[in-house]
Amino acid sequence: MVYKNAWKKYQDNEKMNELMKFNDEYIDFLSNNKTEREITNYSIKIAEKNGFKDISKFKSLKKGDKVYVTNKNKNILLFVIGEKKLTEGLNILGAHIDSPRIDIKENPLYEAGEMALLDTHYYGGIIKYQWVARMMSIHGVVCLKNGKTVDVVIGEDENDPVFTITDLLIHLSADKLEKPARLAVEGEKLDLTFGSIPEFKDKDKKSIKNNVLLLLKNKYGISEEDFISAELEIVPQGKARSLGIDSSMVIGYGHDDKVCAYTSLRAILDETNVERTSCAYLVDKEEVGSIGATGAQSEFFKNALAELILLQEGNYNELYLKRALTNSYMLSSDVSAGYDPLYPEAFEEKNAAFLGRGITFNKYTGARGKSGCNDANPEFIAKIRKVLDDEKIYFQTAELGKVDRGGGGTIAYIMGNMNMNVIDAGIPVLSMHAPCEVVSKVDVYEAYLAYKAFIKNIK
Ligand code: MN
Ligand code: MN
Repeated sequence: MVYKNAWKKYQDNEKMNELMKFNDEYIDFLSNNKTEREITNYSIKIAEKNGFKDISKFKSLKKGDKVYVTNKNKNILLFVIGEKKLTEGLNILGAHIDSPRIDIKENPLYEAGEMALLDTHYYGGIIKYQWVARMMSIHGVVCLKNGKTVDVVIGEDENDPVFTITDLLIHLSADKLEKPARLAVEGEKLDLTFGSIPEFKDKDKKSIKNNVLLLLKNKYGISEEDFISAELEIVPQGKARSLGIDSSMVIGYGHDDKVCAYTSLRAILDETNVERTSCAYLVDKEEVGSIGATGAQSEFFKNALAELILLQEGNYNELYLKRALTNSYMLSSDVSAGYDPLYPEAFEEKNAAFLGRGITFNKYTGARGKSGCNDANPEFIAKIRKVLDDEKIYFQTAELGKVDRGGGGTIAYIMGNMNMNVIDAGIPVLSMHAPCEVVSKVDVYEAYLAYKAFIKNIK
């Protein structure tokens, strides 16, 4: 069995233009939305433009209603109400909107070597040496005691300064280069170069730090203590770009998993007329284990669904919710490890995801004996195959690398634990978790088509 290259489908100019236009829009999205908060805000805006309303605006629900529910500014759920009752199940698209990055500590600011620096703790699984000696920006919020929130984005506008994490020069790195790669750059060395002009009036040794604090106060109204209640994320600076002489790919920060989030969001925005209620769930904290109020393990999903059931039925009991969950189908979408021709030894080719072969399904993830995986039911997979084949959508199946080599997990098992049918799906990516990741434009577009077909036609 050989999966085919999906570009063949786009020989006709008009189809190719649609594919390229969709990817231009994705490049814009990826360039302008780098954190879970930014994506949640963006999703609310574009959802409202497409006729979605906040759940608080509804007194009851009817077919065709478009509802969104947000959670703590970092999650969003979007629903298009179907002809059938919620208790008969939903078709759900799920993806995470957090990406690996470097977070600023609670007490971060210090001065050393005639510089002011910010101390950090990285977020998610990163190869640390990839994140140094690059231009970075800071995104996030600082929450003040007076109840106000200061939104921060520094380093994206061309008039903004940028930031960096320095690396030791090659000339003095003989010892460092003898170390195993995982120890070459240690976590405590990932501190951000933040400033270097001293406060001229001050004779004190800490004067560079003081000058930085003065600047933060004047420009942003932030004092040193305010870092305690801040959520500041250091991410690679700059825009995503087309990649390759034929512009066939996209390189940028955070494809994992914004590429599945964007395509899922677009698929549901277009939708108005569905038999089963369709849902897109954009969730936070996947890269650190999906724990907490805004991760997939939160009660948020069930709570929101319970509210919808109350609006639809006029009353609520737990059995309604249990039926809705049990009868639901979900594509838990996350990026797949794309086959890298430079590292063939990591993959088993028959069961690897290749860029350009369309959306990828992982029956199971997990590692070493499928440990911890959601193993999708073949009855469910058969339904999906039929729908995709009927619509001539290209797909492939894959595992994450060779058996016993490594592995990873997604949110599929969490939703599977609620007794719904779930399968991992997604888009193959190269350089996963690096500051710049790579996807194929044809996979992005085929995934979007697959998501549309899934919410419309899976029964
Ligand atoms: Mn992911
Ligand atoms: Mn990841």
